[in-house]
Amino acid sequence: MAENAIEQYRKFKEQEAALFVRAKADLMAKYDDLAKQFEALGIDMPNRSKALSVVATGLKRQRDPQRPCPYCNVTGHDGRLHRNQGDRKRAFTSDELEAYARQGRHSA
Ligand SMILES: [Zn+2]
Repeated sequence: MAENAIEQYRKFKEQEAALFVRAKADLMAKYDDLAKQFEALGIDMPNRSKALSVVATGLKRQRDPQRPCPYCNVTGHDGRLHRNQGDRKRAFTSDELEAYARQGRHSA
């Protein structure tokens, strides 16, 4: 039974790796297609290696650590941390900032 699970897991990982390669190839084909469209307009396609690193590392967006949060006007997090405040965004209290810092989502 256990060996069966191991075997299944191994196959699953193989499939996962193969799917990743295919997904990446699909994305790159789309990218090349877009690049041609940009080219037709006389525009340089923005940074191909950056697009590749996005594929490699997932879609996590980078934050400029120097730029203060537009709501709190402090550095350490950006406006995205306010997403759950909906339409009525406000600066975090120092208690909230401390809590986010403990979660690693704000660097004091
Ligand atoms: Zn903020």
